[in-house]
Amino acid sequence: MKRVEFFIVGNGLAGTMLAFEMLKNNIEFRIISSPEKSRASEVAAGMINPLVFKRLTKSWMVDELLPVAKERYQNLENLLGEQFYFEKKILKPLSEQEKELWLERKQNQAFNSYISLVDDFSPVKNVMQAAGYTQVSGSGYVALFSFLKFADNFFKKQNLVVDATFNIQQIKPEADYFEVDGVKASKVIFCEGAHIRHNPLFQWVKMVPVKGEVLLIHAPTLSEEFILNKKVFVLPVGNQRFKVGSTYDWSDLSDIPTEQGKLSITERLENVITCDYKIENQWAGVRPATIDRRPVLGRHPGNRNLFVFNGLGTKGVMLAPYFAREMVSLITSLNYEVIPEVRVERFNKIP
Ligand SMILES: Cc1cc2nc3c(=O)[nH]c(=O)nc-3n(C[C@H](O)[C@H](O)[C@H](O)COP(=O)(O)OP(=O)(O)OC[C@H]3O[C@@H](n4cnc5c(N)ncnc54)[C@H](O)[C@@H]3O)c2cc1C
Repeated sequence: MKRVEFFIVGNGLAGTMLAFEMLKNNIEFRIISSPEKSRASEVAAGMINPLVFKRLTKSWMVDELLPVAKERYQNLENLLGEQFYFEKKILKPLSEQEKELWLERKQNQAFNSYISLVDDFSPVKNVMQAAGYTQVSGSGYVALFSFLKFADNFFKKQNLVVDATFNIQQIKPEADYFEVDGVKASKVIFCEGAHIRHNPLFQWVKMVPVKGEVLLIHAPTLSEEFILNKKVFVLPVGNQRFKVGSTYDWSDLSDIPTEQGKLSITERLENVITCDYKIENQWAGVRPATIDRRPVLGRHPGNRNLFVFNGLGTKGVMLAPYFAREMVSLITSLNYEVIPEVRVERFNKIP
């Protein structure tokens, strides 16, 4: 029977980026890909925004995360032969008060590379009237659906995927291996996204999963030059199609799109754009957020052969490449310590 070193449970963005990182480091693994469990990464808009607009601060660790993300996605584009990573400025309409704050921040060295312009006029038409408009750089998106499709095919061709749902009940406490469909592994890394809440081994990790919905619209006369953002994002994905979102729901954690979600998004959309559009599709998914909104990396305190990589929350695209690399350092070195903010031990109150 084939025996490898690791199982990676889940092939969303976390599991996929980790698998590429492990491949690069010649670590033997199999991906356990569930035919029945949903993946948030498939429905995510894939946007990269270096700023937090609410407080007008930089996104957590953005100066470290962005260069790694850019390098890694571009590197994978070369490997897979397809473009997924797109740089695109965000155009944000501003109130008079906001304009003042943005002008002030623009003078600040730390924001130099992220605020490229604050102006009185919109550079494109069919955008709402506002007191000002700012342009954010360092932003863009990863076409996640297509990235994951190419990645899945790549790993399948190399026989690195087992199509199965990992069943925790089947773990044999006395065995020194884990087994799925005739393949054995010495260790398991759980990258289950929001499904982690059903994993009895990691129930103590404080997750606050949040459902989100996204629309795909066709807007023939809307400019594709910018990602628009004003209480809603309008992200051009080609052929005059735009992804528009999002919503935040902490009570309904299903993957089912709702009329209420659609209405909430279109109401905000119609405040931002002034042209016609048609809705062509709608998706929903559950973001794997933690209570402190930081990723979770580490080893199970009761079983040194079990690991977790999760908590990518609302910013998975920017976080996954950097922390997949950290995960590899952690599993290959007994003494490696990830930064305290992301250590699984911060939730360490296991029964
Ligand atoms: C509507 C919406 C919009 C979003 N927009 C953005 C955005 O613009 N930018 C951004 O950065 N992030 C965005 N996100 C967040 C982003 O989707 C997540 O951060 C990221 O996709 C999480 O990846 P993941 O791999 O942890 O989880 P998932 O993608 O959910 O993957 C989990 C995987 O684990 C598998 N799995 C679970 N349990 C088992 C088991 N027992 N056995 C086998 N497999 C199992 C599932 O099948 C799945 O493949 C958005 C999310 C949503 C819902």
